[in-house]
Amino acid sequence: MHLLCNRLASLALMAAALLPWASQAQDLDKLPSYVPVLPAVKARALAVDPTKGFLVKEVKPNVCVVTDGIYQSAFVTTGKGVILFDAPESLAQHIVKAVTEVTREPIVQLVYSHAHLDHIAGAGLLVKQLPKLAIVAEADTAAFLREKKDPRRPIPTSTFKNQRTLKLGTMTVELKKGQWHSPEGDLFVYLPQRKFLMAIDTLAAGHVPFMDFDLSTNMHAYLKVFDQLLSYDFDVLVPGHLTYLADRQDVQMSKDYALDVYKTVKHIHDGTDQMKVMSAAAQKYSWDNKFAIFRTLLDGVIQQCATEIQGRWIGKLAGVDVFGESHCRAALIYARWDD
Ligand SMILES: [Zn+2]
Repeated sequence: MHLLCNRLASLALMAAALLPWASQAQDLDKLPSYVPVLPAVKARALAVDPTKGFLVKEVKPNVCVVTDGIYQSAFVTTGKGVILFDAPESLAQHIVKAVTEVTREPIVQLVYSHAHLDHIAGAGLLVKQLPKLAIVAEADTAAFLREKKDPRRPIPTSTFKNQRTLKLGTMTVELKKGQWHSPEGDLFVYLPQRKFLMAIDTLAAGHVPFMDFDLSTNMHAYLKVFDQLLSYDFDVLVPGHLTYLADRQDVQMSKDYALDVYKTVKHIHDGTDQMKVMSAAAQKYSWDNKFAIFRTLLDGVIQQCATEIQGRWIGKLAGVDVFGESHCRAALIYARWDD
């Protein structure tokens, strides 16, 4: 009896242990299928050693990029100390180590690209390691961070309005406010001596932009960012995510994609007989439920746009089947209410 109880108990334990696997398998079945990342895109990936957790790579003389595979930050050695651009939370524990792999110069300045947690919330840890660290940010980003009082995102020690040129040792860094992504503003970080540009959350090289056009809160400004990027004389662009660096062709491709989405959704929206679609929906929902009727109209436009965009871009940029629909939605909001 005792043995049987033990056996039953161990079977129950095994079943309990297997249960999460069983339900996980069922959950996996429910997940949508996406095409694999294009081989030409995969071939461009920087290799991050998984046991080390990060990669530091000199992309131009004195200019290095650090990535953990998801996030990117960069730094420049000047002869009088290192200027670091962004401190993503996921990279925070590696940043000092990454810099000391390349130089003996201490990190003396940190520039915030924008206020978002994922790109600068490692700064709290850095300030503990480097108490004299100067932090530079645009005035509107700084004002937001002062309101937030977030120890992960220490308040900047130096602010500027719209643009500033940092000169330290041998290096010149031009900072200019942009408006493509965060409501508080974004930053072009440009090293003219190196033709190196950093513009976080603009695009993802080889891929379509992240969801909702990189979470842009201003589609009107977002659509202008590609020409703003191309107006700089650069050949390496750090866009902030994944393990890919961008070049001018990536910017052009992203621009072509964004404009195609916009024109497509506008064309479909303007050509839709809205009354006809809504009257049909009203037969199911009745005219009382105007939200349901309106959603039917908007969803129809978005779906048609997503299908067309996928057909044209699936072989050119990775992720169009993942985020194309969200881009059509973001572009429809702009086309219908702003343009
Ligand atoms: Zn962001």
